[in-house]
Amino acid sequence: MTSSARKSPPSSSTGSSRPLDHVVAYIRSRFPRFGEYSLVWDEALELAEALGATVHLRACREDAILLVPSDRPRIILNEQLDLPTWGVFCVAHELGHWLLHPGARHYYLQSPGWLDKTESQANVIGLLALWPRPAPYPRVLGIEEADGLVHLNVAFTTSQGRGPAPRWRSRKLTMRRYR
Ligand SMILES: [Zn+2]
Repeated sequence: MTSSARKSPPSSSTGSSRPLDHVVAYIRSRFPRFGEYSLVWDEALELAEALGATVHLRACREDAILLVPSDRPRIILNEQLDLPTWGVFCVAHELGHWLLHPGARHYYLQSPGWLDKTESQANVIGLLALWPRPAPYPRVLGIEEADGLVHLNVAFTTSQGRGPAPRWRSRKLTMRRYR
């Protein structure tokens, strides 16, 4: 969610994004509860640990920062965040960046890049942590903040697998930003 220099995960190829399906399958192989039900805060920490990352609560201006100083990524999370909701989203979002975007940079909430492809892919991982659904995965179409709340406008479909093109619907997911 913030701009920060990052290095690639150890086993990564550099450059382009990895396929989302591949990363979701990888996460589930390390942490099967991901994508099964909405994760609580302690499970977000377990998810990070299962993927080899650590989470640190700090006083900081950004909501979340991903640091990859060596082979063990660190997620710095704003200690003021509402951890059970937006905090879980942010942890999963940063883990998504680490797995999906070797060598990429990313952007702070509502920066011009917030809805670009890189952020959108990380948002899918964030979303699946809170609102698991099978593929085709839900997507964040827009985000608004007001009065300490984060409103995510989410596109989802109940169509699965083959058959006609999925019909997408939208709904709003609202959560507290700060505790
Ligand atoms: Zn991001």
